[in-house]
Amino acid sequence: MTKTIQAIRGMNDCSPTESPLWQWVESKVRNVLQSYGYSEVRMPIVESTPLFARAIGEVTDVVSKEMYTFWDNDEQLTLRPEGTAGCVRAAIEHGWIYNNEQRLWYMGPMFRHERPQKGRYRQFHQAGVEIFGIANPEIDAELILLTARLWKELGIEQHVSLQLNSIGSLEARKNYRSALVEFLQQHIDLLSDEEKERLEKNPLRILDSKNQALQEVLNGAPKLLDYLDEESRVHFAQLCTLLDQMGIAYEVNPKLVRGLDYYNKTVFEWVTNALGAQGTVCGGGRYDGLVEQLGGHATTGVGFAMGLERLVLLVQEVNHQIALPRAVDIYMVYSGEGTTLPAFQLAEKLRKNLPHLRIMTHCSGGNFKKQFKRADKVGANFALVIGETEAAAQQVVVKDLLAGTQQVLSLDNVVDYLQKAF
Ligand code: ATP
Ligand code: MG
Repeated sequence: MTKTIQAIRGMNDCSPTESPLWQWVESKVRNVLQSYGYSEVRMPIVESTPLFARAIGEVTDVVSKEMYTFWDNDEQLTLRPEGTAGCVRAAIEHGWIYNNEQRLWYMGPMFRHERPQKGRYRQFHQAGVEIFGIANPEIDAELILLTARLWKELGIEQHVSLQLNSIGSLEARKNYRSALVEFLQQHIDLLSDEEKERLEKNPLRILDSKNQALQEVLNGAPKLLDYLDEESRVHFAQLCTLLDQMGIAYEVNPKLVRGLDYYNKTVFEWVTNALGAQGTVCGGGRYDGLVEQLGGHATTGVGFAMGLERLVLLVQEVNHQIALPRAVDIYMVYSGEGTTLPAFQLAEKLRKNLPHLRIMTHCSGGNFKKQFKRADKVGANFALVIGETEAAAQQVVVKDLLAGTQQVLSLDNVVDYLQKAF
């Protein structure tokens, strides 16, 4: 036998039984984003490698070890590990943000070479939002309100909580960085080799170390919030006030810094305890310097991205109330000489007049018994049956598969009847 070929590790198929839940989650996401007036954008999956190196930062985990990069002749390309860099690239390239505010969203696959485990994959999906040209904290608050609304729509609001921090300006972070490094040098023996390396390159990342002993010590470390510049301090205070007034609960987490280099001022994460180690379902923040850093006119930015796999897992875990739509409402059964054409014609007529219904035509031959079995298997509510007698009389038998009743209708009356029945 020929050896079969399997999917790449960490890259999943979505089966016909899983796709209804995915579609349900995606449509909730789309509807909420659209209800805030945001516009969808679609960017390529492949971008030139230097875009990510410049935007995300050379010493971040993503750029230093998680990217899928390859040469295309003499150009180095990367499968996008996140959406912000590509969105900013497109916004600059097409002038979307030149003297203009934009509220944009996107949804699609991202790629990171990580160790696959529950909630962590090599191809995964994000829905993200990027807002350009709005500097004040009201928009930060709107993004948080929007995500909170989505959690309600998904029925997971009891199982996620909001962590909030401000990491201030570049200048403030530099000052803080020196203070943190000085503090950590007194506890250098607690640091792993990797953390020692981070101490040089990206010491703020040590704040979210998984090392318990180090975490205890870090509770006594200098706090970034105490180093904030005045503008960032006011921005953060205004954001917190508005969230309080709008009834959004949050925890200020002084250790929250996020993994990508481009953030400033507000950073936030929505976390859950229901998924084990992969607890962050959504993360975001401000990136006021990024557009300029990538060669555009200085424009403020703020955004977030959420991991759709983790949202789907969380919905599966905690929301057992979802009524997913049936794949098939009506199954068209026909057998005998001259029955194929009327069955096809009736199915097309129903699809035209009752577009919200899902109608499956049998197509694969066999006797009535086999066809009814099939109708049950796909979960149809009704079977419409055309045999030779019905074909000759321009009629159809309408069989209610749940109630077990049936009646004969003229072909002209079927649309009306089904309209009332559904
Ligand atoms: P983590 O700390 O879990 O690695 P991150 O900080 O690298 O997350 P971001 O770059 O902020 O993640 O991406 C936003 C969201 O995308 C995450 O909160 C998570 O829900 C999701 N995500 C990130 N990486 C993966 C992955 N490898 N597999 C599945 N989802 C992911
Ligand atoms: Mg990561």
